[in-house]
Amino acid sequence: MLIFIDLLVLLVALIFGSFFNVVAIRLLQKESIAFPPSHCPNCNHRLHALDLIPVLSYVFLKGKCRYCKTTISPLYPFGEILAAFSIFFVYKHVGLSLELIPALLLTILLVISVLTDIREQLILDIVTFPMLGLIVLSRIFIGTEPFWFYLLGGLIGFGLLLILAIVSKGGMGGGDIKLYAAIGVALGPILTVISLVLASFVGAIVGVLLLMSGKVKRGQPIAFGPSIMVGTLIAYTYGYDILNWYLSFW
Ligand SMILES: [Zn+2]
Repeated sequence: MLIFIDLLVLLVALIFGSFFNVVAIRLLQKESIAFPPSHCPNCNHRLHALDLIPVLSYVFLKGKCRYCKTTISPLYPFGEILAAFSIFFVYKHVGLSLELIPALLLTILLVISVLTDIREQLILDIVTFPMLGLIVLSRIFIGTEPFWFYLLGGLIGFGLLLILAIVSKGGMGGGDIKLYAAIGVALGPILTVISLVLASFVGAIVGVLLLMSGKVKRGQPIAFGPSIMVGTLIAYTYGYDILNWYLSFW
């Protein structure tokens, strides 16, 4: 039974990932999410259900459109796998409890933010604000701490990123700042600080690797969204363990 639920969560998360790709692309292009139905961006051919199976369609079509043979961006299967992995990771940690609601809201926000950030280096208000509202709403009712604790987290997330943006003179985008307000409300102040430390750590490693591989040049901006996502999900699930481990040295 447990394995059945696990598989179901994975499957639903993959389908969600496929939807998040559409959301990310259409919001970046300021198109409607619901209409027109899925089509190839090159030949505009309407996609068959068989073309829309997460990951598998991409593999079977060898990364090419069935109709015009143009290359499909690997960001499609990436978005699906990212959503599946992160939603499953959070679900495994939280289980089927009320806490899963703010956890999923945060994860969905992070996945869509990563997808828009990788594509256009943008984290969109039209995604962040509604999700922030829903996370605040969920934290009024759900959580081990009082509501003010989570609000304080939001203020600290927002404040710390604002300071970082001012100090780094534009190295941090406005989208990152607002995203951290939402992360703060979901995580509370302590885990938010841990998330930022981890995200900076991951961001530094990613930056060095990208520079060394020649994928980016010195001074070229790098999307911080993916590092924020990794740091935040680790802080949310194992943050207090990491903190206790760190404090044991003192
Ligand atoms: Zn096509």
